[in-house]
Amino acid sequence: MTLDKLHALFLEHPDICTDSRRVTHNCLFFALKGPNFNGNEYAKEALDKGAAYAIVDEAAYKISDRCILFEDALETLQKLAVFHRNYSKAKIIALTGSNGKTTTKELINAVLSKKYRTVSTQGNLNNHIGVPLTLLSIKADTEIAIVEMGANHQGEIAFLSNIVQPDFGYITNFGKAHLEGFGGVEGVIKGKSELYNYLLSNDKHVFLNADDPIQIEKLDSYVKKIGFSTENPQYYIISLIETNPHVVLEMEGVQCRTKLVGQYNFSNCCAAVMMGKYFNVPLEDIKAAIESYIPENNRSQVIERNGLVIILDAYNANPTSMKAALEHFKIIKSDDKFLILGDMFELGEDADKEHQEIADFCEASGFPNVFLIGENFNKVRTSFKKFNTFDSLKNYLSSNPIKHASLLIKGSRGMALERVLDVL
Ligand code: ATP
Ligand code: MG
Repeated sequence: MTLDKLHALFLEHPDICTDSRRVTHNCLFFALKGPNFNGNEYAKEALDKGAAYAIVDEAAYKISDRCILFEDALETLQKLAVFHRNYSKAKIIALTGSNGKTTTKELINAVLSKKYRTVSTQGNLNNHIGVPLTLLSIKADTEIAIVEMGANHQGEIAFLSNIVQPDFGYITNFGKAHLEGFGGVEGVIKGKSELYNYLLSNDKHVFLNADDPIQIEKLDSYVKKIGFSTENPQYYIISLIETNPHVVLEMEGVQCRTKLVGQYNFSNCCAAVMMGKYFNVPLEDIKAAIESYIPENNRSQVIERNGLVIILDAYNANPTSMKAALEHFKIIKSDDKFLILGDMFELGEDADKEHQEIADFCEASGFPNVFLIGENFNKVRTSFKKFNTFDSLKNYLSSNPIKHASLLIKGSRGMALERVLDVL
């Protein structure tokens, strides 16, 4: 079957499904392969459950007329996404960066959906499968699509940019995340900049944080740029009023009281404000959108419980976001402060050094009560309490409950530190 025929079929069956357990009536099922599964084996189940067609890539599984055989189902999904992207009239904003992509994407979507029909990445589906799925969620009447692109190695953002072909792009920041796959911080800058390479060589617009020296340097001579800054009048001026604990910002005399904590969320909000201004969303609508946005999924959530003010930041962690969270925790006003910090993953040979730096930073900040958990944190030299297993931390907290204090909980996803909530 040719790609345009497949696209015609897709327009009749716009739900795409890649998991036979979540098949919807009349969807197109793509039989993808993973390290531990072969989607072809589930094509029959998907059809039995109501899928209209199954795209398979092994002849043995072409068991009915409703199975369409392609050479490679994943590649077909990606090519279909490119075809649909070119067919659609929506403007596309692509987003990447080390930290804050999902939060920024959701803030941008909240702002732009005040005036436009938008679609955006569902949750964190930001890879070589999620990005095509986002493009395929663009409807005939969609005006703007906001696409999060994630990466943990070189070439990935270039690959995704070629699929998305964005009209606009924004890099949240260049930080110490996925150092192992990228090959150090320089590698991160190079890898994330693949989005700039795409935009600049295709004469597209770039949004930037004009207070970030790396972004300014990279885009120095480029004309099609739109930015925000706390001080440079060449760009939209947005001021940070306070972060205690929530971020309050101001633009053109209008204050916006967010439900986000941490100074790092200031730039995330600014990106959304900037795009709102650029796309002519009225300032009062921008304010309303940002003020009503509440983070989910353990991303810098504030939870009050039994006299504790908990900043639950257990969604993920890397040296940059850990530092940002600690900086913020340092300045919030509280009589007593506790920290439960879990290992940061994917740091390769920098792991020991980076964990030591975090422990040293906590000592230098004068935090009295820091609990470290995980294999890496167990290796650091420190006077803080260290725990090898989650159960040992849990037992300790059960017999030594934390009361009337502020508590920061942060660690990599694999640490699943939100489990601490069960014993607080
Ligand atoms: P992922 O790589 O998992 O897709 P992401 O880039 O989408 O992550 P978010 O999910 O928005 O990032 O935020 C995850 C965590 O990163 C937050 O809970 C917060 O601790 C931290 N973070 C968010 N924004 C920033 C930022 N601008 N600078 C540093 N850290 C940030
Ligand atoms: Mg994300």
